[in-house]
Amino acid sequence: MIELIDIESCFNITHLPQNWERFMPDDGSAYDSHVFEPLTYKCICGYMVEFKDVDFKKHRLSNFSNLTPKDDDVFNKYIKQNNLKVNSFLDFYCPKCGKATRIFFSSGYGGRHGDYIVDIELALAVKK
Ligand SMILES: [Zn+2]
Repeated sequence: MIELIDIESCFNITHLPQNWERFMPDDGSAYDSHVFEPLTYKCICGYMVEFKDVDFKKHRLSNFSNLTPKDDDVFNKYIKQNNLKVNSFLDFYCPKCGKATRIFFSSGYGGRHGDYIVDIELALAVKK
């Protein structure tokens, strides 16, 4: 019912912002930490879904699902059965192929500038 998505190959990046650890004082303003680079997810059908920091902030520590109760339940059962430790999630139906997909992430404020940091932890989809 559930398939595990390889996050390394389906996301352009799995940690945001990307470069704050590599910031060197002599580099000047090479990297603007206030620009949140969009995170792009590529569905198995090839459709690209883009996420911004507001998308993660909105779903942070929330149980809100964009899916039908039936699909929401499929994911919740899987998490429970496999005893997965997950933080926040956001989910969607792929606009092209309709695949129910849920992305799990952890997020918070940290780093040198108190940036909003997102880590993609896991992605699951309902098998059709
Ligand atoms: Zn798709």
